[in-house]
Amino acid sequence: MEYDIVIGLEVHCQLFTESKIFASDANKFGGDPNTHISVLTLAHPGVLPKLNEKAVEYAIQLGLAFDCEINKFNFFDRKNYFYPDLPKGYQISQDKSPICLGGEVKFKIKQGKVFSSHTVKIHHIHLEEDAGKSIHDLNPNFTYLDYNRAGTPLLEIVSEPCMTSPLEAASYLAEIRKMVRYLGISDGNMEEGSLRADLNVSLKPKGSEKLGTKVEIKNMNSIRFLQKAAEYEIERQAEILNNGGTIIQETRSFDPDQGKTFGMRVKETMNDYRYFPEPDLAPIVLTDEEIKEAKVNMPKLPYELFETFSKEMGILEEHAYLLTEERALCEYFLETSNFTKNYKSVSNWILSSIKGYLNENNMEIIDFPVKPSKLAELIENIDKGEISNSAGQMLMSLLISSPESNIIALAKSNNLIQSKDTDAMGSWIDEVLTQNATKVEEYKKGKKGLIGFFVGEVMKKSKGSADPKVINSLVADKLK
Ligand code: ADP
Ligand code: MG
Repeated sequence: MEYDIVIGLEVHCQLFTESKIFASDANKFGGDPNTHISVLTLAHPGVLPKLNEKAVEYAIQLGLAFDCEINKFNFFDRKNYFYPDLPKGYQISQDKSPICLGGEVKFKIKQGKVFSSHTVKIHHIHLEEDAGKSIHDLNPNFTYLDYNRAGTPLLEIVSEPCMTSPLEAASYLAEIRKMVRYLGISDGNMEEGSLRADLNVSLKPKGSEKLGTKVEIKNMNSIRFLQKAAEYEIERQAEILNNGGTIIQETRSFDPDQGKTFGMRVKETMNDYRYFPEPDLAPIVLTDEEIKEAKVNMPKLPYELFETFSKEMGILEEHAYLLTEERALCEYFLETSNFTKNYKSVSNWILSSIKGYLNENNMEIIDFPVKPSKLAELIENIDKGEISNSAGQMLMSLLISSPESNIIALAKSNNLIQSKDTDAMGSWIDEVLTQNATKVEEYKKGKKGLIGFFVGEVMKKSKGSADPKVINSLVADKLK
């Protein structure tokens, strides 16, 4: 039997606020256990929560970035359940009335050289608080509790069940991570749990309208694992269905070592949580002014930059795609482009030499020592013919170790100024042609591709200082 794959994601994203969502405790990852906890976090009797306005602003910004409707009257509910990492016995969350409604996430998937465009519909985005952390593996006889994380502001982004492949789900999650990083509202760090996703997967007979029973795989903390878990789960469900079985609605967990999902518990129903409006917090009432202000504070978004780069600046879509992967990369590109109009060259430098250097050294672009103005100066000198391309590469390595150097002075002291001395070039060419007489014969008999070889040999003699374009035409003339 053939099936349609249906995937929906619930993505939790910790916000980068200074303090927690309802208390003034520091919102910081790490730190000694139970050092960011006040009476509020510990739920002492009689204490009252107070809403962090920054968290609301961040929620609005993410909503606007994904084209959601901002719900101008929204409020919190209590989600009641018992767990030791939840001292209040309930989680403050939004159920009936989330802050953002609808919306969509648009992104591209690149497979080989081909791009496909995707749109994933968002059901809603709501605000809530995170729970503390239970630590089970320090001691076989005890569970330890660290409440530092309790009360961290979270956004939960709930998609519609509309994704149709594990790759699409993984790319959607990657797009959310990219967006929260662009907006600067979260570090999106999946290893540290700042971003995590619950993966819902079901199958239905091909073409059927009715959704199948879903299984929820909790707390995926890596994009790669999410894709793997979805792949495994689809196979597992297909096998059950093909053998005439039924899927039970349950919560499962993924073991990356085995590449398999395991049943944890049968899913709670809504009623088990006994949701009711949080009586200690006033509803959030937003004005158009406040929404506008949140918008003004937003940077340009990746898809806007993609358009600018590819349509207005003449950058290949494939390169625009790579540049917009990271906001800091875009900023470096844009800043360099303030100093030179050769945007293509800027993009090439960033995506090849600079990225290569960063990857090799496990570095981020913000730590790259050569400033955008210097890169632009280098590009301008290459364009003016002062420096050859290959000398430019050497100069870049020199600049990395002394980023403040004057480029022309550096080129001069390293013999990297492009030679315009045609006499010298002429004699190098003569030497190369005499030394390779048989190749010259072959060239004359029609093996024209050999010109590259001759140019290369002359470049070697010039130690990279000659202009390959000039040599090319000089060699071609001589061989006529
Ligand atoms: P629940 O009531 O179990 O929390 P929701 O309807 O709130 O379920 O959906 C939770 C998440 O599960 C959403 O992201 C949604 O897209 C996804 N989902 C819902 N039904 C299905 C389904 N049949 N198959 C796959 N995903 C689904
Ligand atoms: Mg739900």
